Parts: sequence; C-alpha cells; structure tokens
Amino acid sequence: MKQYQYHVVITDCDHGSIEEEKEELGRIGAELVLAQAKDETDMIRACKEADALIIQYSLLPRTALEQLPKCKALARYGVGVDSIDLKAATDLGIIVANVPDYCIDEVADQTVTMILTLIRKAAFFDRRVKSGEWDFQQGTPIHRIKGRTLGLIGCGKIGLEVAKRISSFGVKVAAFDPYLKKAFEGIVLKDFDAVLSESDFISIHCPLNDSTRHLIGKKEFNKMKKKPLIINTSRGAIIDEAALIHALQEGLISGAGLDVLEIEPPDSQNPVLKMENVVLSPHVGFYSVESISELKRRTAKNVADVLTGVWPGSVVNCEVFGKTRATISRH
Ligand code: NAD
Repeated sequence: MKQYQYHVVITDCDHGSIEEEKEELGRIGAELVLAQAKDETDMIRACKEADALIIQYSLLPRTALEQLPKCKALARYGVGVDSIDLKAATDLGIIVANVPDYCIDEVADQTVTMILTLIRKAAFFDRRVKSGEWDFQQGTPIHRIKGRTLGLIGCGKIGLEVAKRISSFGVKVAAFDPYLKKAFEGIVLKDFDAVLSESDFISIHCPLNDSTRHLIGKKEFNKMKKKPLIINTSRGAIIDEAALIHALQEGLISGAGLDVLEIEPPDSQNPVLKMENVVLSPHVGFYSVESISELKRRTAKNVADVLTGVWPGSVVNCEVFGKTRATISRH
C-alpha cells in the first residue's frame, strides 16, 4: 500500500472533479480524500487525522476546530472566510488561506459585457428577432459609446480591470474609492456625489460590508442627473433593490445590468424579471473553466505550501505567524 507523507481532506465541494487538487498535493506526497461531510459531526469524523483541510461551504466554528488536533492549515476555495472562526484558528496555530484574485478577468469581462449589452440593446434585439420581428427602430434611440463616462464605485482589482477594458472603447473613467490615495493612470478620482451625478454608466466594485450595505438607495438615485445605466457585479445588497426598482420604473436611470441581487435566486414576482432595460445573469461573474481550475490549483497549493514549511501567498489570519502548528521555514 502506498505510504503518504500527509493526509489532506476536502470537507465538501461541488466542483465535479478534484484532479487539479490531487495533482498539486501529489507533488508533496499527500493523500487527498473528498469527505462531502453533511454536518459538523460527519466533518469531524472525516477530518480528525487530517494535516490540513480544504473547504468550500462547511462551517468551522471553534467547537469543530478544537477537535482537529493535527490540522495545520485551512484552505478555502475562493475569497470569503466567514464560515471559519478565524480567532479560534489563530489560537490553535492553524493557518487560514484563501484565493482572493482567481476571477478578476472574468468579473471585469462580465461587467463590460453588461455595459455593451445594455447600450447596444443586444438582449432586447435578440428576443425581438427570435420572436419574428426584424425592425431596428424598436430599439431606438441607441447612443454612441465613445466619449461617455463610466463611474466606478470601488476601484480595486476588478474596478481597475473594468477601467482598462472600457477605455479601449473611448470611454472616460471616473472612480470613487475612499481608500485609494492615488488614481491609476487613465482614471480620475472623484467624490461620491460627483460620480453619481456625472456618469453615464455606474458600476459597483466595492465589497459588501456594514458601510456599503444599501450604499446606493433612493437618495443616491435622485442624484443621478444623467439617467445612467447601473451595473452591479459585486454584491446585490450594495444597492437597495426596492429603490432600484423604483428608479427604473420612474426613469431615473436608463437600465441596469445585474449579476447579483439582494435575494438570489430572485422571487418569481421580482419586477426586474419583466423589465426590458434590465439585463440579468445568475451570479456567474466569477466563473470560467480556467478560473475554476486556477482556484482549485491555488487552493491546493496553499495547503502544500504550509505542509512543506512555506508561508502561503494569501494568509487571512497573519497574526498566527510565529505560533503556527506547522514549522514555517520560508516566508
Ligand atoms: P478589491 O478589494 O480589490 O477592491 C475593492 C475596492 O473597493 C477597494 O479598492 C476598496 O478601497 C474599495 N472600497 C471599499 N469600501 C468602499 C466604499 N465604501 N466605497 C467605494 N469603494 C470602496 O476587490 P475586488 O477583487 O475588486 O472585488 C470587488 C468585489 O467584487 C468583491 O468584494 C466581491 O463582492 C465582488 N465579486 C463578485 C464576483 C461575482 O461572481 N460576481 C466574483 C468575485 C468578486
């Protein structure tokens, strides 16, 4: 029987295959087991001998972590780590790692796709032509893209990629980002109200937190003097959806492109489902075959790093440094 140096467990995942993870961990002589744990008890049973865990949706409260005596690393597929008690992990010397940037290109592409789809009325015409109507007049007016202004709310990794892409269409880019000290080339930093009132398109790229929940509401829609298109590929609750629906019904904005909603999937009675000037997608921004493959590899690599004494590229609980269960020799 093959002797493995390490034992790694995937608590749960819906990726269909774990070949990339196996390949990555095979390089360091680690055995990889997919547990598909149904609950905490099931998960602890499957993971108590594990040197590290890979997690998708499983919850890891302190009570669970305290029953994993050998665990040196928790690697989460993706960005969010709210399913893990980080304080408990740190107290126990467990490194928690994530992959914060595996789908930047995909979300930026999704955002620009939505802007172009709305401006050129691509989804509208597609529906009309397929229903037997061949009449461009039904979609008029359509305005030229070149020369217009995109306002970004949040200009981090994704916002910047959106700016680069849309600039090639001759669109000017302004951004509101309270944490950005200096603008990137080609982007003008403005205050929040200026972005709201001066933009032809407004795209949301800040994270959802207590200060950004309903950042765009009734008051903000009233400040949008140019009746812009609103694009949200970040998180649904950054926009007050009731206020958004009201703004669409009253013509305060020209349309919306939404990859994310306050409630996903939407209620069948949600008015946005029937609006011609709203383009929707089912929170697909992160996805491509390549982004998921990269996510799987990099998640497994985070584990391989810890087990071979290397501080991984993206650690969430950096304060664990110096008291890790794993012996870290390279930082
Ligand atoms: P990032 O951390 O690189 O950038 C976020 C930016 O928002 C930062 O520059 C930050 O300073 C800014 N910000 C914070 N608070 C703000 C505020 N109150 N007003 C304006 N700006 C503010 O993150 P990112 O990688 O660019 O991702 C952005 C968001 O995209 C994520 O938080 C996530 O919600 C979303 N996302 C969606 C998908 C999808 O599938 N649709 C996939 C990945 C990420």
